[in-house]
Amino acid sequence: MTTPPGGVTKGPGALPVQPTVPEHLAGALLGIDLGALRENYRILKARLGRAACAGVVKADAYGLGAAEVAEALAAEGCRSFFVAHIFEALELRAVLPRDHAIFVLNGLPPGAERDSAEADVTPVLNSLEQLQAWSDLARRLERPLPAALQVDSGMSRLGLSPHEVERLAATPALLSGVQLVLVMSHLACADEPDNPVNRLQRDNFDRLRRMLPAVPASLANSSGIFLGQDYHHDLARPGAALYGVNPTPGDANPMRQVVSLRAKVVQTREVGDGVGIGYGYASRARTHMRLATISLGYADGWHRRGAAAAFHHGARLPFAGRVSMDSIILDISALPHDALRPGDLVDLIGADQTVDQVAEHAGTIGYEILTSFGRRFHRHYFGA
Ligand SMILES: *Cc1c(COP(=O)(O)O)cnc(C)c1O
Repeated sequence: MTTPPGGVTKGPGALPVQPTVPEHLAGALLGIDLGALRENYRILKARLGRAACAGVVKADAYGLGAAEVAEALAAEGCRSFFVAHIFEALELRAVLPRDHAIFVLNGLPPGAERDSAEADVTPVLNSLEQLQAWSDLARRLERPLPAALQVDSGMSRLGLSPHEVERLAATPALLSGVQLVLVMSHLACADEPDNPVNRLQRDNFDRLRRMLPAVPASLANSSGIFLGQDYHHDLARPGAALYGVNPTPGDANPMRQVVSLRAKVVQTREVGDGVGIGYGYASRARTHMRLATISLGYADGWHRRGAAAAFHHGARLPFAGRVSMDSIILDISALPHDALRPGDLVDLIGADQTVDQVAEHAGTIGYEILTSFGRRFHRHYFGA
């Protein structure tokens, strides 16, 4: 394998070897089940029927490793990928063949037009200014440049306003030199199936896209796929569901868990009644207690706020005191003596505790838990 100046191993087909902390030196182990990821892709595809299924791999595939994830999805037949930034697209292009489309959701920052054109990636144009800049560059380069166009169907985040879509429809010359390959929009409330905003946004989207050239359309994210067929259009853009986050909150999770997280015990101790535990003595020993300190903390993306627990062979080990930067103290009084020794592993995410449950404890969403993971874990990929 050759490593170009960019630092990423050249594809197609070659996995870039992501640097990871060796297992025997790491404080915690992050397992990523690429077999479960692939099964999740198949579950979503089966739901979609005729519509195609993209893979959203922005933010390093929600923290799981964009190259590894994209390769696994490509092996399942995925041909469209979405990232947020052009530099993410450049890294991904090194592992994906040219006929796999890479869309850049945040579009075309001023000054990045030439890099985008040279990188063979497809910007999502979000404004008439971006469209103008792309069209100008196409004229200068004397070749058509591909683009997706985002319209704002009611989220007020990115995309042309309905008024701007009307202007574009009345002035087709604004698209000169631009090869439109996708019209898309994004749902604000897709995880609330009963929210009337979903239908309104879908109707807005369908009205707006009919004013534009007839190209493939895309509206649904993970949760949008579960709103039904009239949200599927030509291409769905799931991210979170691929990684095991429940796209149907409130109902059973139809996806398989992809991530497991285990942390090593640093040491164990016994403390007497009334002894203070951890920063601020936020917790005190009630009686004689046995504690284990594990080597994972908020610097690894484990949220400092919110109650949670670790597990050992299914036994719940509550956190005692506050989460530190690099460690957490567990109450292991319920375990037999010597059940845990330095170097042993406890489960933080896995069969006993899902990503969504960890998020709920921390008052956030699974997306933030996954994307918060730091770089100190030993990462191991399996099931490919
Ligand atoms: C992040 C993102 C997605 C993926 O959303 P999930 O809820 O993770 O499936 C799809 N489309 C756009 C525009 C996004 O920003």
